[in-house]
Parts: sequence; structure tokens; C-alpha cells
Amino acid sequence: MREQIFTFGQYLHHKFGVKISKVPVSISGFTCPNIDGTVAKGGCTFCENDSFSPSLDRVRPLKGFFLNLQSTENPYLEKQLEQLEWQFNALSQKLRAENGAEKFLVYFQSFTNTYAPFETLKALYEKALTFENVVGLSVGTRSDSISDETFSYLAELSKRTEVWIEFGIQSIYDETLVRINRGHDSANVKEAILKAKSHGLKVCGHLIFGLPGESKEMMLETAKTAYALGIDSVKYHPLYVVKRTALANEYGRGEFEPISQELYLDVLTEALKLKPPQVSVQRISAGIDDETLIAPQWCQDKNAQLRTINQTLKSIGLKY
Ligand code: SF4
Repeated sequence: MREQIFTFGQYLHHKFGVKISKVPVSISGFTCPNIDGTVAKGGCTFCENDSFSPSLDRVRPLKGFFLNLQSTENPYLEKQLEQLEWQFNALSQKLRAENGAEKFLVYFQSFTNTYAPFETLKALYEKALTFENVVGLSVGTRSDSISDETFSYLAELSKRTEVWIEFGIQSIYDETLVRINRGHDSANVKEAILKAKSHGLKVCGHLIFGLPGESKEMMLETAKTAYALGIDSVKYHPLYVVKRTALANEYGRGEFEPISQELYLDVLTEALKLKPPQVSVQRISAGIDDETLIAPQWCQDKNAQLRTINQTLKSIGLKY
């Protein structure tokens, strides 16, 4: 009998009694301090900034307008609220039809979703909570881009609804974070996770395996540290190279070798074995099935990846 890995879907089903899906939304006007020059320019080396631009036409009118933590005005708030509603309605209907989802968690996914004036954040989060069958929010952000005011507000909100905050941890090694132009160090992520936890917020940590210069031991050390910080949920990703990124240039110059599928499976299975049972898993693979993928080719087909991962997990008595 294979043991089922505790998934985020199971966590939500157990808590709410029905199938819940995350509805990813992308709000125009949001950016990232690692892109707009506040902490760095160009973004993380693997980030194709355009890839965060949703393919939804309704989002395009705000192109060229960007918020940050110091913005004092947001003349586009009404438009952003409309986008939010439109995207939620379209995607939740699709998820209901395709996956049988009955309720939803609104996932502010693209860019840095706490990097805007507090009043804008509050308006968007509260609007999301008014949508039918929404049980809560998940807010993806950077550890250096969330104010104390937002932490306190989310903590208050979490008393009446489900609130998650998602931080890109990626690696606990500062030399790696410098190499990928992350724009913050590992101490900053640790501090933000501990602060979120001290506010009673649930935290999902994103980890990347295969970052430049990292050994298997380093990847596992990152996973262990993330668990020890008290994350409640985790997403594991392999690093892949897409066009129009700094990483693509490094790869082209022969300065970066993508992780092999064998090593990824090896690290992933070890990381899963080390994971505390109460930490739910939201993602164990990632890829992109279009012409923007440069390498490694095994990241092209997510379904094939999942099949291979499950075959490997079978050998150690686990299933995803
Ligand atoms: S923090 Fe996220 S959005 Fe910003 S540059 Fe890095 S990957 Fe891109």
C-alpha cells in the first residue's frame, strides 16, 4: 500500500468539505521591485517578465502603468477591480466545468502582490472575498515587499477567512541568490516567514531545485531550512531556461547546465522524505509546453513529468 503525500487539495477538502481550486489572477499595474529598479533591474535571471503578462486582453489597457510601495495615487483602481472580477468569473467557471471545483481560493499570482499602496491591496483583497463561493485568498509575494501594515491587515483578515501568503524562498544560499539576481538575501526570507507565522498567517514556500552552482546537498539543505522555519505548504520546481532571460544568455555561453531529470527526481524524493507530514504539497513539477522553452527538454511535458515522478515515488512507497 503506497502512502499518499499530503497535498494542498487534501488540506482544503478536509477543511471545507468540498473540492476547492485556486483561481490565479494577474492584476495590471503590479510589478516587482526586482524589475522596476528599486532593488535591482532585470529581475531574477530565470524570470521572463513578460511571461507574467496574462494573455487576457482585458488586462492590457494598463500597460505602462506600475505601482510600488511609495505610490500615492492609483487612478486605475476601478479598472483593476474590474479585471479581478472578470478574470475570477472566467477562470472559476472553467475550473468548475473542468475540475468539478465547488469553491475557490483567489490566488494573486503574478509579480509581487503586496507591492502596491495599502489601500489598493485592501480594495483588491476585499473585492476578491465578495465573489461567490470564495473561501479565501493566497497572496504570492517577495519577502522584501510586504509592509507591517499589510502583515497586520492580512492577520486580521485571517480571523474570518482562509489567508495564505506565498514566498519565493528558492535557495537559502546567499551566493546562489546573488547569482540569480534575486535582490534579497536569505536572512530576509527567513525574517519574513517568521513574521508571517508570528502573525498567525499560513505560509507556502516556493523552492527551486537546479539553481546555478547548487549541489544536491545544498538543495536539500534549503528544503530542510524551509521546513524548520515552519512553512505550512510547499511548491517544488525544477529550474528551466526560457527565451528572453538572463539565464538563457548564461546557458548559451555554456555557463549554466540545467538539472537532469534523474537528479531532480533524486532531490525531490529526498525532500519529500524529509518533509514534516503536516506540510502540504502544492506542486512537484513545473515546465512550459511551448517554443519559449530552451532547456531542459524533460521540462516540456508536465504530464509526462508527473508520470515519471509517480513511478519513482512508487519505488519508495509514496504517491502524489
Ligand atoms: S521576484 Fe518574481 S516577478 Fe520578480 S523578478 Fe523574480 S521571479 Fe520575476
